[in-house]
Amino acid sequence: MEVKHLKVFGWSASLVFFREKRHCDVCKKVRSELIEWLCPKSPHITMELSWWINKLSEVTSVLAVSKLESVDKMACYRVDHYILKRLLQGYQIPQVTHIAVDEVYARSPKQQGKDETRDDLFLTVILDIKTHKVIWVADSRRREALDDFFKIIGSEACSKIKVVATDQHEGYSASVAEYCTNAVVVLDRFHLVQNFNEALNEDRKDELDQIDPEGQMGDMMNGKYKCKFLTKAANRSEKDNRHIEYVTKLNKKMAQLEIIKERFHQIFDAPSVIDAQVILAEIFQWSMDIHARGIFNWIRNIMKDLRFWNYFENRYSSGVIEGTNRAIKGLKWQAYGYKDMEYFKLKIMQKVGYLNSRFALKWMYELKSN
Ligand SMILES: [Zn+2]
Repeated sequence: MEVKHLKVFGWSASLVFFREKRHCDVCKKVRSELIEWLCPKSPHITMELSWWINKLSEVTSVLAVSKLESVDKMACYRVDHYILKRLLQGYQIPQVTHIAVDEVYARSPKQQGKDETRDDLFLTVILDIKTHKVIWVADSRRREALDDFFKIIGSEACSKIKVVATDQHEGYSASVAEYCTNAVVVLDRFHLVQNFNEALNEDRKDELDQIDPEGQMGDMMNGKYKCKFLTKAANRSEKDNRHIEYVTKLNKKMAQLEIIKERFHQIFDAPSVIDAQVILAEIFQWSMDIHARGIFNWIRNIMKDLRFWNYFENRYSSGVIEGTNRAIKGLKWQAYGYKDMEYFKLKIMQKVGYLNSRFALKWMYELKSN
């Protein structure tokens, strides 16, 4: 046999030796000798190299690791998957009090199996708001995904959870209501802003239909500038602000929508629920006055939602959810969409959770020595 080992001073190193094959009476076939320091999933790679490949894959893509270490691409995937699975065996979900639950789109409809629904194309990601780490990833975005998580951590850990931030998805809220009786559900700000922006964008499209879409003004309000209209003024570039200034000078409705949007963002800085209610009532009235049906309908819905008002009593940084969401999207770019969902789940926990050498060092060495 020839097996690959860690490089020595930049030189590739392999071990060449004989591996015995014998007939096994139990299996009734020829089996190879067990060699503990070879990776069971890729017998031409030593365990030392396997741990190293896994460690490198924490900081770069598996494809890059494959080139760097001159190891076959598919072998790298297998090895990385295997090590992550071993790390998962030693993993214990940490105690949490504030969690966020988010759905992540993981597969295209083409990959949907026969007995699966659209919900199965998603994963449920659970993160600790205080440490900013993903602590668990479950299949599908169904209520059962969260139920299973609560069952794994047990009723005592569930009772310590105080805040669960989530989007408007009813399934998750139902699960929290059943398992975490001490928790309040809070609508997560990142998704709230996303939904508000969708409503605002509808109103932009409505106005575009009112004017000549082919004319100069129509061109300035076109979908290609969508982002400029949805971004908070303070976060826009100077150039974008000039664009908006130009449009809002000439189009009254767009100016009014701009004012509503800016006022909406102020809600999150409101010092109390009462102040927030005043702002929401205000923009509700404004949207009615100018016939902005997108925003009007959105506010009418959100006003009745207790989970929205809970936010003002249980504030937390929404950057956590947004950042994790972005990191997971980036991860998807690195591989071919991670067709293997089990592997994708492990990769999420490696890159934005605890399944890596930074956090798992202790149990990693315990596993290594066993
Ligand atoms: Zn056997």
